[in-house]
Amino acid sequence: MPSDAIPNEPQIDTEEMLRNITEWVEIESPTKDAVAVNRMADRVVTDCEDLGLAVERIPGEKGWGDLVVARDHDAEDAQPGILVLTHIDTVHPIGTKDGDNQVRREGDKLYGPGSYDMKAGAYMTLYAYRHLKRLGKEPHLPVTFMFMSEEEVGSPFSRKHIEAEAAKAKYVLVAEPARDGGRVVVARKGVADFVMRATGRPAHAGSMHQDGRSAIKEIARQILEIEDMTDYERGVTFNAGMITGGTGINVVPRECEVHIDMRVTTPEDGEEFTQIILNRTSHDPDVEIEVTGGLNRPPYQMNDGVKALFEFAREACAEHDLDLQYTPLTGGGSDGNYSGAMGVPTLDGMGVDGAGAHTLDEYILISSLVPRTKMWIKMFERLE
Ligand SMILES: [Zn+2]
Repeated sequence: MPSDAIPNEPQIDTEEMLRNITEWVEIESPTKDAVAVNRMADRVVTDCEDLGLAVERIPGEKGWGDLVVARDHDAEDAQPGILVLTHIDTVHPIGTKDGDNQVRREGDKLYGPGSYDMKAGAYMTLYAYRHLKRLGKEPHLPVTFMFMSEEEVGSPFSRKHIEAEAAKAKYVLVAEPARDGGRVVVARKGVADFVMRATGRPAHAGSMHQDGRSAIKEIARQILEIEDMTDYERGVTFNAGMITGGTGINVVPRECEVHIDMRVTTPEDGEEFTQIILNRTSHDPDVEIEVTGGLNRPPYQMNDGVKALFEFAREACAEHDLDLQYTPLTGGGSDGNYSGAMGVPTLDGMGVDGAGAHTLDEYILISSLVPRTKMWIKMFERLE
């Protein structure tokens, strides 16, 4: 009998969930404010300990907040299990909750900074785990929860820990926000960052124009050519997102720098286009260009393991009338890229439904809490 059909069983309490999600959202935790992120980590540690989980708090390196890892088993001798990936940082500065996106309920929506991406999803994983226990059941497999402190900047500190845990896992479930009406994520593009710097020769723009070699002109030509390599059908995009250069309107500029974001669908394209960008040469022989950077999130692709995991989740959700669908490919990266690229079956976008990630209209849909929590309960209960 499915777990949601047993008479007189404890019910998932939406109000209890909302109370806790609201408290998590109100502990604002912008990625670059480690003190704030660590206040959130304090709360996560408390909540995990209340569940009887063994908590390891790994001090953040290079100024990042701490990473919280919580296990229901002995880390040393466990069989391959379920790894749950979440993050507790947000892109929103302190004060957003009282100003530009006040924490408030309006009908089916709960607004607040980082509500949808992804405090509600992160909290839901713990609630689902506890509810399974309340039902008198245990997960088949050992479960490990990770709460990243700097996912919004690509998890530069947590990455090695994520990969070490993923290497020991049989399945990886990611509580990132659901997409487009509750869809889960089965593939994500790879993400690369590059910085291109040009160094030319300065000159007075009036009297000595012919002696100058413009770094800005060189970079402008580079940008046009690089952006023209965008191929939507192939799933490859380039975006020159930030640019600086020059010292005055009447000076031929010696320096210019551009930051380029590249997204790719396959590892092969990642390798090919990374080499193309790194090996670009200048048009003007008197201007030097230097390119640094590369892929920081490898592409996560749908394969048989991912497909089977999705089917498992879809069947479990059908029992409680949740028609689970997936979105074919998303350009946004997550920590699921790391485990997915390692070939560990990874299902992402399992968090709550809502909208407005990274905006001031961010909210979750309250009505999605119960069906999504049931999905998590069944995954914990049945994956083996
Ligand atoms: Zn996120």
